Amino acid sequence: MDNQLVTKAIDTLKEANIRITPQRHAVVEYLVTYHNHPTADDIYHALEERFPNMSVATVYNNLRLLTDLGLVNEMKYGDASSHFDFSTERHYHVICQKCGKIVDFHYPSLEDVEMAASRLTNFAINEHRLELYGDCPDCQQKG
Ligand code: ZN
Ligand code: MN
Repeated sequence: MDNQLVTKAIDTLKEANIRITPQRHAVVEYLVTYHNHPTADDIYHALEERFPNMSVATVYNNLRLLTDLGLVNEMKYGDASSHFDFSTERHYHVICQKCGKIVDFHYPSLEDVEMAASRLTNFAINEHRLELYGDCPDCQQKG
């Protein structure tokens, strides 16, 4: 686990006068440790043994809080449940169409897209999203 990232996130919560409950701490720890773009449900199932009294709603509220503070990005895909990404550094995702795994990749020159869009439409571009879909190495092996 990257303890420094956990500490930094917890400091941000403290600065915002947010109480650090053990559950909240565990959600942050989970996001930093696995960095696997979990849903609220994924985190709930990973932590339910440790926190039998915690509900999915609690996990979801914590994720919403972390999102509002800019520590986490919520990834919405249509009607499916949101995935949460701890990294707020700009990056892109490849998504496995068989198992749903989401993996990061960095490709800085794609920022040209924003300049091109701005030039062609006169919009002031604030952000863009890019997702690529395919089969992950594990699923390719399974055939
Ligand atoms: Zn896969
Ligand atoms: Mn990501």
